[in-house]
Amino acid sequence: MAQSAKRTCIFCGEQESEGRPMLQLQDNFHVCFPCMEGLNQIMFKTVPKGDIAAKRILNLISKTHPEILPQEEPDNTPLEVLTRKQDELPTPAELHKMLDAYVIGQEHAKKTLCVAVYNHYLRLRQKESNDGTEIEKSNILMAGTTGSGKTLLARTLAKILDVPFCIVDATTLTEAGYVGEDVENIVLRLLQSADMNVAKAERGIIYVDEIDKIGRKTQNVSITRDVSGEGVQQALLKIVEGTECNIPPKGGRKHPNENYIRVNTENILFICGGAFVGLEDIIRKRLGASTLGFASIEEGRDTKEYTEEEVLSKTLPEDLFLFGMIPELVGRLPIFAPLTTLTEEELVALLTKPKNALVKQYAKLLAMSGVKLTVEKGALHAMAKQAIERGTGARALRSIFEALMLDIMYKAPSDKSITEVILTEDAVLGKGEPKLRRDKKAS
Ligand code: ADP
Repeated sequence: MAQSAKRTCIFCGEQESEGRPMLQLQDNFHVCFPCMEGLNQIMFKTVPKGDIAAKRILNLISKTHPEILPQEEPDNTPLEVLTRKQDELPTPAELHKMLDAYVIGQEHAKKTLCVAVYNHYLRLRQKESNDGTEIEKSNILMAGTTGSGKTLLARTLAKILDVPFCIVDATTLTEAGYVGEDVENIVLRLLQSADMNVAKAERGIIYVDEIDKIGRKTQNVSITRDVSGEGVQQALLKIVEGTECNIPPKGGRKHPNENYIRVNTENILFICGGAFVGLEDIIRKRLGASTLGFASIEEGRDTKEYTEEEVLSKTLPEDLFLFGMIPELVGRLPIFAPLTTLTEEELVALLTKPKNALVKQYAKLLAMSGVKLTVEKGALHAMAKQAIERGTGARALRSIFEALMLDIMYKAPSDKSITEVILTEDAVLGKGEPKLRRDKKAS
């Protein structure tokens, strides 16, 4: 006898099940309860951030009945993500596409990170299915000059995946018992960002910044052994690899009578980042040394011809050891993602292209006062050049642009005659002021 067809939700395509009751709208139209909840949130504008189910419904309604939706910024989540089944992971290519909306350049690092993060969450699923195969954790090490987007990449990935995220500065950490922050406190930070939900925190991402600053200060261990740096690396080892931590709920030092929260770090993804100033030279030196041997004959090139990206892509664990990282920690960060210094073109794109690009943000702010903002191409390039000279990447760019805009942002809202501000190359170079267009009638 033919089985009666299972009822399917018209929004998410899921079938009726015990945890997913269906409401019949018409003969063959059903909506599941989670999607009803999503609809409800849309109507009352309470859609939680990153709620894919609600976003998918929102997307469908915007096509059929756009007029009933609250007027808000368009959602740029790619369609393939919205139409994916709720429990499917974004593929590495989808993750990459979403990162592109926020992060300029760094294609190699993006690709490496997307694959690693995708595998990490696949690994968690595979563990749940418990088929005996053990996939190892793929913690990540990112190296790139300051202001090249390391933190931004880690933060954006966590946002896309809607998992708890926290940033810790490795230089503030100490081994247990020393003055400073206990390594375990970083897990508390993640727990706090997960609203103290242990299960959620255990699937989160921790970004450990300045990992290069806790290296041994000397390669010659026997002469000056930098105990504190190495000690912190040792302390980090355990939680990066995966361990059960007892977290004092209020942080700080542990007290014997306190009730601890137990958090297992086995499924927490650690992304460590650092500028690793000098790493490129270490690798060039190694590559150069092999010019006398076989390696470079095979490539037939002088190491001077290698770009920064090519050099960093040849990083070996030994280069990181020379840098002061202990082999055990390097071993637990098996994915290496090098970032390159942003070029002039990339810095220009950074000012104008991302969703939260500075020029877009300031244009929006000025538009609220009825003023149009035009930034000339020459001005964009002049700012990018200045940022490169300062050597702090996108950070410098931000301060250069913000300093130039300060006067304008001060004047524009009170001078009602201004209709347009044009930021010229001369204004950036300090040879003149930004041009102002005025409405004659208003002045
Ligand atoms: P890092 O961690 O490498 O020192 P951050 O990620 O903190 O640098 O970047 C500093 C600032 O510059 C942030 O405001 C960030 O948004 C911006 N930024 C840096 N790199 C990029 C990039 N590749 N694309 C877009 N914005 C960037």
